[in-house]
Amino acid sequence: MRSAWTASNSAAEILRERRLRTISVAERNASATPFAMVVVRECAHMPEGSGRPLGRTLIRGGSLFDGTGTKAHPADLLIESDRIVEIAPSGVFDGRAVASTIDARGMTVLPGLIDAHIHVGREPDHDGRLYLDAGVTSARDTGGVLDNLRALRARALAGEWIGPRLRICGPLIDGAPTVWPAAMSFIVGEEGDGRNAVDQLAGKVDQIKIYSGVGPELVREIVARARDYGIPTTGDLAATRASEAIDAGIAGLEHASVAYADIVPVELQVSMRIFHEQSPAIWRRERNKGQAATDPSGPDARRLARQLADSGAWFDPTLVVLERLASLADPAVIEAPEVALATPAAQKMWAERVAGRKSAWTEADYATAHRAFEVELAFVGEAIAAGATILVGSDAPNPFVVPGWSLHRELELLVRAGLTPLQALTRATSGNATALGIAHMVGTLRPGKLADVLIVEGDPFADIRATRNVRHVLQGGVVRHSAVAVPARA
Ligand SMILES: [Zn+2]
Repeated sequence: MRSAWTASNSAAEILRERRLRTISVAERNASATPFAMVVVRECAHMPEGSGRPLGRTLIRGGSLFDGTGTKAHPADLLIESDRIVEIAPSGVFDGRAVASTIDARGMTVLPGLIDAHIHVGREPDHDGRLYLDAGVTSARDTGGVLDNLRALRARALAGEWIGPRLRICGPLIDGAPTVWPAAMSFIVGEEGDGRNAVDQLAGKVDQIKIYSGVGPELVREIVARARDYGIPTTGDLAATRASEAIDAGIAGLEHASVAYADIVPVELQVSMRIFHEQSPAIWRRERNKGQAATDPSGPDARRLARQLADSGAWFDPTLVVLERLASLADPAVIEAPEVALATPAAQKMWAERVAGRKSAWTEADYATAHRAFEVELAFVGEAIAAGATILVGSDAPNPFVVPGWSLHRELELLVRAGLTPLQALTRATSGNATALGIAHMVGTLRPGKLADVLIVEGDPFADIRATRNVRHVLQGGVVRHSAVAVPARA
């Protein structure tokens, strides 16, 4: 058996030994968490990473959450090849001939989690494994180099890339000057550019992502053209207000921060010009000041929350990346155990962000950033209370947003914002599957669906942090598991 890990960390060595070992990281987290250890477990009867389904498999004795929003209940699950074939009350399948049995007593059986917002990083082979280890079996890439993404999907189809099932947006449609490299941006500026961009991308992407530099007229043009093709659009916007994009018929909005131009008083808003002409750190510092002083339950915020709910637009708050970017001096963030799972190159880049931030921010700026994040979190609470359609996305691999594991933090933050654990897990499974256009295959545990299954120890409906206690992950009936539990913060 080959190790699932390419990073040189202690977990890798222990996996190769094919033995159960427990690595305590209690020194780092003793008071912060009930899951203060990293457990690495290998199951001798289940070949991990062989790429072949297990044959007829029984998942027995667990509490089953089928992803539809109904409560978990004791049930057994029968898998044949890559599909779920039957679900029945506990014990009904006992005595049937099966090739393997997964003992799920004391565990919760869920659909594989779906991350609605990732960017495939520079080391997709490493990161693909991280997503699966964390139980994330599908994801939407919300902006990247189109040729790379299509090549990766081809490798996945050929069985050469192990990672989440990918839905892709391809390049960001952006205005000039762009925030990201030219290869991952499609620049529009004049009337007709939006239609042209959509024409170029149609047939090559699953959704279209509109980025911060695009103004309202071009947003309307892009959304209308994409609708002609039946392609959903989503936006991380700054030059267009969220309310204007919803009026234009945009299908979704990314990041709680997209509410900024609608809810922060105009006299407190800062321009993207600071980002381009000074630095991202200074822009964020100045932006936080106005946001920290904003009432997240004021009339403007309530109006936007209501509009989100009434329109049915997806709202993908990605609170975890906003929390991370607000907390780049906080040891709980920059020394979180899962950070060690990221590639050395990613860790180096993230450390540089911490250093860059320190050179531009004072202690008071960090405190303001925390308050600004709390405003974003509270606005998400308003949107939830209004009935908005929440998606669950992480924005990995932004600084300290570790592929896969950060989605567990997103679930925790959404519960803090106001979702129940049952709602949060429904959104991260069937809800995300619907938004990504893959609900016919995954997102629920139902006969006929692909066997994308996450099995965790404990009851995440009592404590959402239990989703981190990953014990088994199946993707299309193939075991993709290495049972690494990464502790939660309190
Ligand atoms: Zn993103």
